[in-house]
Amino acid sequence: MSIAENIAQVRERIAAAARRAGRNADEITLMGVSKTFPVESIREAYAAGLRVFGENRVQEFAGKADALHDLPDAEWHLIGHLQTNKAAKATELFDAVDSVDSMRMAEKLNAFAESAGKTLSVLIEVNLGGETAKSGVGPGSDELEQILQGAPRWSHLTIQGLMTVPPYTEDPEGARKYFRHLRQIRDGIAARGLPHVGLNVLSMGMSHDFEVAIEEGATWVRVGTAIFGERAKA
Ligand SMILES: *Cc1c(COP(=O)(O)O)cnc(C)c1O
Repeated sequence: MSIAENIAQVRERIAAAARRAGRNADEITLMGVSKTFPVESIREAYAAGLRVFGENRVQEFAGKADALHDLPDAEWHLIGHLQTNKAAKATELFDAVDSVDSMRMAEKLNAFAESAGKTLSVLIEVNLGGETAKSGVGPGSDELEQILQGAPRWSHLTIQGLMTVPPYTEDPEGARKYFRHLRQIRDGIAARGLPHVGLNVLSMGMSHDFEVAIEEGATWVRVGTAIFGERAKA
């Protein structure tokens, strides 16, 4: 199937999941995760109407960005772990960093965004499974608290919500409790009414479990394989 057909099919599945959950499909943004795929694939997806793209490596996207400048209304999100020494480059290349997981990183991104004269959209990445190989702040951690408290200082960041990558389970139902947990964390923070901490976005769900994520309240789903095909194994 073509990328356009894949996108159409994913959109139908999003609509069906939204209906099951009594939600409006318009509340759900489909992000195409284009990591490892070439510029041509991204263009194909753009031509099929996709506007929001996720990449997980700064270096990789640096090699593609020049060839994509003529797609002005496309939105580029960094969804993978960001190293401190790549924060400047990330600020330059991306519209959004969805994987902020420390106060220090937020400080840095804010400073770079300020000198670049732009505002970065950011999500706080939460690590719910406690997997050490994954990034993200722990729920209830000091790190999360520091980010929430620091928010008023970062005039060049717009915190929009939370993101998570749950532990992999063969059965997508296995992810449900994590998605539900992220939503509960969001609701808990929202109840505190912190200024400068936007919480409308829940970025959760990938190719094999985005329907479950939508049932649990996802507003952004990050879909790679189901749109672009299988990635070559590293
Ligand atoms: C690769 C990746 C995805 C997309 O995964 P698929 O299973 O291919 O849909 C989503 N989120 C993150 C953070 C990723 O790294």
